[in-house]
Amino acid sequence: METIILKDIRKVYKNGVEALKDINISINAGEIVGLIGPNGAGKTTLINIILGLLKPTEGVSKILGVDTDKMTKQQRKKIGFILDGPGLYNDLTVDENIKFWSELYGVSQVRGEALLNQWGLYENRGSLVKGLSAGMKQKLAISRAFLHDPSIVLMDEPTSNLDPVARKNMVEFLKSLHDKEKTLLITSHDLFDIERICSRIILLRRGQIVVSGNMEELKEALGVRMGVTIKVSSKIPKDIVNEISKDSEVNVIGEKELILSGDKISPSSVVRYLVNKGIEVEKVEEEKVTLEDIYTYIVKEDEE
Ligand code: ADP
Ligand code: MG
Repeated sequence: METIILKDIRKVYKNGVEALKDINISINAGEIVGLIGPNGAGKTTLINIILGLLKPTEGVSKILGVDTDKMTKQQRKKIGFILDGPGLYNDLTVDENIKFWSELYGVSQVRGEALLNQWGLYENRGSLVKGLSAGMKQKLAISRAFLHDPSIVLMDEPTSNLDPVARKNMVEFLKSLHDKEKTLLITSHDLFDIERICSRIILLRRGQIVVSGNMEELKEALGVRMGVTIKVSSKIPKDIVNEISKDSEVNVIGEKELILSGDKISPSSVVRYLVNKGIEVEKVEEEKVTLEDIYTYIVKEDEE
C-alpha cells in the first residue's frame, strides 16, 4: 500500500528560490527510504512538505491517501517526526516535554520514560531543554518521535550531533524497524548509515531527483563500476602483459595481479583471454561500490 505520495511537487520560496521541482515519489508501507543530497538540495523542504509544515507551490502531497493539509489530528498521530533543529520546548524540562507530547498523543508517560532510558536521558529528566547539549536534544527529539509508536516516521538528519555510541544505537534501532512494518523517510549525510539502514535511496540535487532505487539500481542507472582485480596462479608472460596493457584501463601489478578499471573493459573477456592462453585464474574480486562512491560520482559531476 502506498503510504506517502508526492505528485509533481514544486516549491518556490518567497525569495524566488526554487527549492524543489518535478518531485514524484511514492513510498510503500514498510519501506525505509533514505533521502540524500548536498546542502541546499531540498531535503528539509521536502520533509516539511510531507509533514504539512510547508505548502508546495504546485503538486499534491498525500499520506495514507489523505492530502497532507487536510489531515485530521487523529491521522497526524500516526506520524512521528524529527525536524532539522529539534523543535522542542526549550523552557520546559525533558520530562515536561515528554509529558506535553504524551498528552497530545494520548499515550502513557511510562513509554516516554522507557524511551528516555533507552537513549540515556533518564538522568536528565529534570533539566531544562535549553541547557542540554545538541546531542542530548537530538536524543529527546528521537524519544519524542517514537513516543506514540507511529507507523510512519519522517526524520531530518536524525543522527546529527549524536555521539558515536548513540549513533550506533540509532542505526541498529532504525534497522530493527524493518521487521515492524514501519515506513521511514530519513535524510542524512552519514551515507554509510543510510546504506546500512535503507531499502531504497533517493538522491536529490538542486531540487530534483537524480536517481532513486536500491544500491544495485543506483549503480546500474549511473553506470558506476569500481575496479576489478584478477589474480592468477602463475607469472603472466611478457607478451601477454604487453597485449593486455595496451588497453589503458588495465594495470598489471607485480606479476600475478591485474587491475581493471572503467566500464569499457569487461572482466569476463579478460578472464577468458587469460584462460585461453593457459593461465590459471585464481580469483576475481570486484571492489564494492559504496553509497559514498555513488554520491561522490554525482557531486563531482556537479562541480564540472
Ligand atoms: P537541504 O535540507 O537539502 O540542505 P533545504 O530544503 O534546506 O535543503 O533548502 C533548499 C533550498 O531552499 C536552498 O537553496 C535554501 O537556501 C532554500 N531555502 C530553504 N528554506 C528557505 C526559506 N525559508 N526561504 C527561502 N529559501 C529557503
Ligand atoms: Mg536540511
